[in-house]
Amino acid sequence: MRLYIDFDNTISIGDVGDELVRTFGSFEPLHTELHRGDFTVAEYYRRAVATFRADATPESIRAWTLNVEIDPSFVTLATWCRNSNITLTVVSDGFDIYIEPLLQRIGLNELTVHCNRLEMTEKGWTLQFPGASESCSCFCASCKRNALLRTAADEDVIIYIGDGMSDTCAAEHADVVFAKGTLAAYCTANGIPHHHFRTLADVVHVLRSVTQKQGFRQRRQAQLARKRAFERE
Ligand SMILES: [Mg+2]
Ligand SMILES: [Zn+2]
Repeated sequence: MRLYIDFDNTISIGDVGDELVRTFGSFEPLHTELHRGDFTVAEYYRRAVATFRADATPESIRAWTLNVEIDPSFVTLATWCRNSNITLTVVSDGFDIYIEPLLQRIGLNELTVHCNRLEMTEKGWTLQFPGASESCSCFCASCKRNALLRTAADEDVIIYIGDGMSDTCAAEHADVVFAKGTLAAYCTANGIPHHHFRTLADVVHVLRSVTQKQGFRQRRQAQLARKRAFERE
């Protein structure tokens, strides 16, 4: 079993990436333009970071993250995974600049994180999208499906936890899905079986009870989707 979890609005309470742009730059009209389909997520990020004011520095952003709220059950979930020998990986279409200090704050900085990179160099803010994918049709700068395909073994039961549009390609390729928000609506509309959750306490509850009983199995549709994705890569 391997667990993959989204960051914004799943581990964190609220969307930290959106708040970052609201706090240090201009969120609108860029955000509306993104959802209208005017440009890609990567391009949205480039434009949003270009609106950052001079007081946006790596230090001020790090200090700002101290006020971001995390679902308190995330630590319970991470501890359960560690005790059960299950690898937990964070997959995010957000940035290392806020994810890493937040994980550090709660003592979970050893977790592997797949995300976009934002750093200050002598040329100013520099963005990198190491998880970008041309073969996936997803709405993201960091493809979560590919993070799953690259790190899971054939026999692994893949568990995915998320809430938004950037989670849809991963959910289609996962055996067990925990969903809320837009992702839950997407799963319902597309016939992807899922456990609905409100907080990570709900997820821990289901994980504990199912693993104590019959356990989780691979899902036929997800196996096929993974096979097709490998063939196309
Ligand atoms: Mg999210
Ligand atoms: Zn994708």
